[in-house]
Amino acid sequence: MLVVMRHGATEEEIQQVAAVIEEMGYQARVMPGRQRTTVGVVGNDGRVDPSRLAGLAGVQECLPVTRPYKQVSREWRQQPTVVRLAGGVTIGGDEVPVMAGPCSVETEAQILAAAHAVREAGATLLRGGAYKPRSSPYSFQGLGRKGLAFLAKAREATGLLIVTEAMDPEGLDAVAEVADVVQIGARNMQNYSLLKKAGRCGKPVLLKRGLAATIQELLLSAEYLLAEGNPEVILCERGVRTFDPATRNLFDLAAIPAVHGLSHLPIIADPSHGTGHRDMVIPMARAAVAAGADGLLVEVHPNPERALSDGAQSLYPAQFAQLMREVRLIAEAIGRRVAEPAEMRA
Ligand code: PEP
Ligand code: MN
Repeated sequence: MLVVMRHGATEEEIQQVAAVIEEMGYQARVMPGRQRTTVGVVGNDGRVDPSRLAGLAGVQECLPVTRPYKQVSREWRQQPTVVRLAGGVTIGGDEVPVMAGPCSVETEAQILAAAHAVREAGATLLRGGAYKPRSSPYSFQGLGRKGLAFLAKAREATGLLIVTEAMDPEGLDAVAEVADVVQIGARNMQNYSLLKKAGRCGKPVLLKRGLAATIQELLLSAEYLLAEGNPEVILCERGVRTFDPATRNLFDLAAIPAVHGLSHLPIIADPSHGTGHRDMVIPMARAAVAAGADGLLVEVHPNPERALSDGAQSLYPAQFAQLMREVRLIAEAIGRRVAEPAEMRA
């Protein structure tokens, strides 16, 4: 429930409302707004009885939050959340940043080559997994800490920000130390102990939709992050599993406007995992930006034939440059712009 305070409500009145909410056994989240302050009630799984709150001094009205996710919902917050990264890059506003790089960090030379190539084409973040969730235990599992160190070097060399995956709560701190954005992968979307820890990691989190997760499940997982105090959450549509093997996943473009209707959080699109085929990545990247995606996550490899994971869906650097040229035009057509790399900003 949201307790909307009157315009001009005093600090004491607001604190009194918060105190009563705590007395009722819930937590209070005071949210100052331009017009009026709102106090959110969290910690409830069902309906909250408004009778004790509605009559308190300074209270204008009590609004129920009808969705099962609370802090993530549009009911809770109407303005879109804009996640601000180092160097002034924003996600969720007019800018559309592109995160690009290989599926896995393989060698120092590979990640540096990828970083320079995607930077040159206009990406603002470098992606690359040091810890890889692989279907087979015999597949390449990632370089671990060494991979994180290579990513840090690539950031130093190019100025690109880093997005990389944390696979488990034990490994999260090491990832959060290096990452500008911590990725939680599709297989871990419902790893609740990882979500809770990521909610306290102090870094923005990129939460990917689960392999067969509904949009409601995605938003409930995001709620775990906000419930732990981390409002800097970026959602990611990466396709869901269906019966059809023609594409790796069914890339759910409608999830983008659907999430925008239900939540204030930004949602980006990953057409690489969404399709599984490099020839489909550019058309789906264009479509995602046209659909309102707040960013793109794209796999690019300096030598895709030699990739240790996801080579078939990884773009050649020249294809990525083409993708960037095309999505720039589409972003402009809908009143947005593809984000510039950090040091090219005024
Ligand atoms: C990835 O981004 O490389 C990855 C493993 O993606 P997902 O979790 O969406 O499968
Ligand atoms: Mn991948």
